[in-house]
Amino acid sequence: MPELPEVETVRAGLSPVMEGQLIQRAEVNRPDLRWPFPDRMADRLTGATVRGLRRRSKYILADLDSDETLLIHLGMSGRMLISGHTVGKFHHPHPAPAKHDHVVFHMGQGARITFNDARRFGAMDLMPTAEADAHWLMRDLGPEPFSNQFNETYLVGRLKRRNTPIKSALLDQRIVAGLGNIYVCEVLHRAGIHPARKAGRISASRIAGLVPLVRQVLQEAIAAGGSSLRDYRQADGELGYFQHGFAVYDREGAPCTRDGCPGVIDRIVQSGRSSFFCPGCQR
Ligand SMILES: [Zn+2]
Repeated sequence: MPELPEVETVRAGLSPVMEGQLIQRAEVNRPDLRWPFPDRMADRLTGATVRGLRRRSKYILADLDSDETLLIHLGMSGRMLISGHTVGKFHHPHPAPAKHDHVVFHMGQGARITFNDARRFGAMDLMPTAEADAHWLMRDLGPEPFSNQFNETYLVGRLKRRNTPIKSALLDQRIVAGLGNIYVCEVLHRAGIHPARKAGRISASRIAGLVPLVRQVLQEAIAAGGSSLRDYRQADGELGYFQHGFAVYDREGAPCTRDGCPGVIDRIVQSGRSSFFCPGCQR
């Protein structure tokens, strides 16, 4: 499942083709993805210029000069294909229409963005820009990890006396937006905190220490995504999800990467999802 860094990478890849650019024609090839598309979506997008492209949690938001915002959720298998646009030394010709090309943006200056989603867990919606924060997918989200609102005082306050495991608390999108299973495992390993520890029983100073670690782990993944954009992803014009090296995630049975730790990565299931951690250095 894609997480914040992967979505941020796709946003960054779309930015040069979308920001400041006219959607000359929007082509919508089916009535729905995970949910029905909004009424007259193609008409409402056609002729609009994209003012800016931002991200909220795992959603890409395109603010349009029609004062509407397009929400794009890539879901599990959504991919964005960019063609007819030169990025650095790469120029990708338009591909032949393919199965699962559900939405196509024909941009000014000849570029084309194709949203292809075989499993159709993705979504698109349109809303007035002024009401974007109140959209049902976003209204209950906690602060962004890189925002000022996500700080030590905030996190200590939110986790105080909470009886849930720290892993579940960090996955709670109302506490912090955009963190998923992979990066929570990585953050807890870096912090040396066992994923099953009750959040309310961890000292305030250790909870406060999670704030910079969350940012560090996400920032490293975003940087890795950025370098993947610069090389092989651009080779075929496809913006999908990348996977890079993790310290604990999906490494059951492998040695711990922490200097001097003799531990072996273990896996437990919490709320139906795998938690990877090192019993040697996570307490
Ligand atoms: Zn270890």
